[in-house]
Amino acid sequence: MKRRKQAAARKAFNVEMAGQRIDRLFALAEKACRDRPDLADRYVDIARRISMRHRVSIPGELKRHVCKQCGGYLAPGVNARVRIDGRNVLITCQRCGGIKRYPYKNITPGNNSAERHCGEQ
Ligand SMILES: [Zn+2]
Repeated sequence: MKRRKQAAARKAFNVEMAGQRIDRLFALAEKACRDRPDLADRYVDIARRISMRHRVSIPGELKRHVCKQCGGYLAPGVNARVRIDGRNVLITCQRCGGIKRYPYKNITPGNNSAERHCGEQ
């Protein structure tokens, strides 16, 4: 029983660390995206690996910065075009042409269900 408790504590710690590292990597990617887009892509790649390994989802607002097709970092005004189409926000990756859509009507701060819903696209 003791061992099980330890394992649970370790997992909680890992999940916590994974979340922190993902946040940090996206912050670094944002800083790097203008001068070193290759580095920004690498940070996103690492963040995605961490999220998969620890089964932690990338928060919706960060996921919007990841191109689903090429896995690169999307920086609006740098390598991504943001347009509004009806009820959706379209983010076009200017490297691969991949388009990301999410509804903008449902997005209210603190409304996690809307965030999760649009993150699944
Ligand atoms: Zn792309």
